[in-house]
Amino acid sequence: IPRREEVELSFNNVTFHYEKGTEVLENINLRINSQEKVTFVGRTGVGKSTLFNLTMGLIKPSTGSITLNGIDVYAIPNLEKRKLFGYVSQNFHLFKGTVAEQISLQDESITREQVEKALNFVGLTEYVASLENGLDTPVSHDNLFSQGQKQLLSIARAIVANPPILLLDEITANLDSITEEKIVSVLQKASEAHTILSISHRLSSMIACDTVVILEKGRIKNTGSPEDL
Ligand code: ATP
Ligand code: MG
Repeated sequence: IPRREEVELSFNNVTFHYEKGTEVLENINLRINSQEKVTFVGRTGVGKSTLFNLTMGLIKPSTGSITLNGIDVYAIPNLEKRKLFGYVSQNFHLFKGTVAEQISLQDESITREQVEKALNFVGLTEYVASLENGLDTPVSHDNLFSQGQKQLLSIARAIVANPPILLLDEITANLDSITEEKIVSVLQKASEAHTILSISHRLSSMIACDTVVILEKGRIKNTGSPEDL
């Protein structure tokens, strides 16, 4: 998937706490270059998913800012955000609607061809073809797709519009090791031109990256290349 836009993300002294709570993140300073691959690691509850929500401008830092090419991400309109960020969340869900709509989210600017391409990318073409109405099969009940297949659908949803920045929050958590390897290698090949932020619990299931950021107690404990850490 070729992608040309230059996107540079910058975290400037970011501190964050939820409405009623203590600091989750403190003094986060980080620059992510266009096309850089960064993996965030850290214990449960350290604030990794929160950091992703901040990155996409879904929540606002308590102090400090996050900018994309100098623009505060929190100020970017939602429609623009969807073109910029492809997000695979830890707790994805399916909606009422057809299989195709799970991927397009009913965005009319997304073509059938793009949906088919995304489906093929995650290796679900055959399975979906086996459903009664293929891509137009309604997903009215929850057992049409296995947990892992839902994860694959959510990846298709994230990449369908070919956004320059992908945020992958533990995308291999629900996959068996063979599917995991497949997804990791496919993403790797397809991702050269993308900026990728990923969250990983296990270093073994990590997508190859340039930089690892280790979070501890809400702060960046260490940053470096995977070889150095
Ligand atoms: P995990 O590895 O389990 O996914 P995480 O590193 O992604 O953890 P976060 O989900 O970012 O951690 O949560 C960081 C902290 O913020 C936790 O203490 C969590 O309980 C708290 N938290 C997360 N979401 C909310 C929310 N919506 N309101 C209040 N507190 C929250
Ligand atoms: Mg999380």
